[in-house]
Amino acid sequence: AYDVLVVGGGPAGAAAAIYAARKGIRTGVVAERFGGQVSDTMAIENFISVKATDGPKLVAGLEQHVLDYDVDLMKTQKAVRVEKKELIEVELENGAVLKSKTVVLATGARWREMNVPGEQEYKTKGVAYCPHCDGPLFKGKKTAVIGGGNSGIEAAIDLAGLVEHVTVLEFSDKLRADDVLVKKAKSLPNVTIITEAQTTEVLGNGEHVTGLAYTDRKTGEAHKLELAGIFVQIGLVPNSEFLKGSLELTERGEVIIDTHGRTSMEGVFAAGDVTNVPYKQIIISMGAGATAALGAFDHLIRN
Ligand code: FAD
Repeated sequence: AYDVLVVGGGPAGAAAAIYAARKGIRTGVVAERFGGQVSDTMAIENFISVKATDGPKLVAGLEQHVLDYDVDLMKTQKAVRVEKKELIEVELENGAVLKSKTVVLATGARWREMNVPGEQEYKTKGVAYCPHCDGPLFKGKKTAVIGGGNSGIEAAIDLAGLVEHVTVLEFSDKLRADDVLVKKAKSLPNVTIITEAQTTEVLGNGEHVTGLAYTDRKTGEAHKLELAGIFVQIGLVPNSEFLKGSLELTERGEVIIDTHGRTSMEGVFAAGDVTNVPYKQIIISMGAGATAALGAFDHLIRN
């Protein structure tokens, strides 16, 4: 059995594995796709002390660092069940059952996509999901934000300070964001809000985004906007489906943790984008992974 079994191989999982292994305890990592969301990222400019890097480079660095230690790395393995028996059992899709004294869940999240033509083709070429990450790439340019909830309106306010103009497209007839945010967005001269707008296509020239097409749901009329960037803000979905019913999740499916990374299941810790932390970033996930591993170690020496 392991002392610490980490489920997930993104920044949170990698940090947890390194912190656990440095305590000299038996550490394993199970990851469906090592690297996680970082694998899909082009420019990374907010990983403190590294001015600029990219996803594949950072993922290679994560893997090398993990493998510097005595860690069992099980790649392309998906966990489907976590259960507390005498030890904690993690069942994999292939039927194998791994046992560990403690578990760190770091299965991350995925951005909800629009599912319209052009979205996949222009990902990282103008279609973006993270304003904190990619906002500065569109400095002085025209952008749109898809989604008028809190994250969409926050993104619009954030981007308005950087880009030339922001158009917010909301599907329903009113914005779902908090009033203070809506007021703030409406007060900005370079933000336009369009409700009852259904995005139908991402337009591009083969190399990058040039605009988008939407339908006015009230009149049925088709419109086009000229844009350099499109920020999709219609939800971040935690990869926690396999945990439903076994530990406490928020309404949105985020694993609830305390300051030590503890979940509601004894001996099970969690970190990163799969949890209810308010901000989802690489550096934040790494810190959370370290916290969860230290929390797990603390648990081991007390039990
Ligand atoms: P993830 O990176 O999502 O990793 C989750 C891991 O768990 C993966 O290995 C996955 O395969 C695995 N997994 C999931 N389910 C299972 C399962 N059932 N069993 C086993 N393994 C499983 N942040 C920044 O700070 N700067 C940026 O510039 C930046 N740009 C971004 C650009 C894009 C396009 C995206 C999508 C995100 C970006 N982010 C950026 C956000 C950042 O990538 C995330 O906050 C961070 O990766 C979260 O780390 P994590 O380890 O919690 O989860």
